[in-house]
Amino acid sequence: MLFGRFEANGKTFFGLVESSAGTIHELKNPEDLTRTIGKIYSLDEVKVLPPCQPQKIICVGLNYRDHAREFSMPVPSEPVLFLKPPTAVTPHKGPIKYPSMCNQLDYEAELAVVMGKTSKEVSPKRVSKYILGLTCANDITARDLQKKDGQWTRAKSFDTFLPLGPYINTDLDSSGLNISLYVNGEKRQQSNTNNLIFPVPELVSFISQIMTLYPGDVILTGTPSGVGKLAVGDEVTVSIDGIGDLQNYVIS
Ligand code: MG
Repeated sequence: MLFGRFEANGKTFFGLVESSAGTIHELKNPEDLTRTIGKIYSLDEVKVLPPCQPQKIICVGLNYRDHAREFSMPVPSEPVLFLKPPTAVTPHKGPIKYPSMCNQLDYEAELAVVMGKTSKEVSPKRVSKYILGLTCANDITARDLQKKDGQWTRAKSFDTFLPLGPYINTDLDSSGLNISLYVNGEKRQQSNTNNLIFPVPELVSFISQIMTLYPGDVILTGTPSGVGKLAVGDEVTVSIDGIGDLQNYVIS
């Protein structure tokens, strides 16, 4: 099922998306995906909001074999983690603001995992029971500030630096998914989640050994090769099999 958060006539609600019909069925309760309330919206009449409201966003650096090769970096023996703040989240069709203190703004297409249950020390075999689903993310990075600062907090944390959505697919297997990114319609990144160094079960299990994950928390699984620059006015789209297209615009 495709699950999302929406706004129409000043009201915010959760719903299930029927892509073929272009409709959304409003849910009674986001914790129960089987109960809709009978109200149906057209996709044209709603604003798509970020599909979840994370307390924290955990990201992994260098998690695709092709990306490690691109930078001639050794394949890491353990996931290298960093955080993005919840205030960085921006919705599908939302703006990405180019910060005045940044001189190189980069895109990074990533598969995002959305947690469904409180998770602490979960084994890789049991991880799927704790995941709500998968969505698209763009790990926007101020590359010059990342190099200048020597650590990543400022470079990864500006408001609007995390496009997320448009929807969460609750039935998708995280392996074998094609992931690509387009700038102004031109393909810049193309890979498959089979190239992940630490696949989703191992990655989520590893993080749950460190910190308790709550429903709505988001894990970004890393970006493939082909990362590059964005300019003001660009349209950037992350596309993942079974989830859809996450489209955003760079503004000054
Ligand atoms: Mg990244």
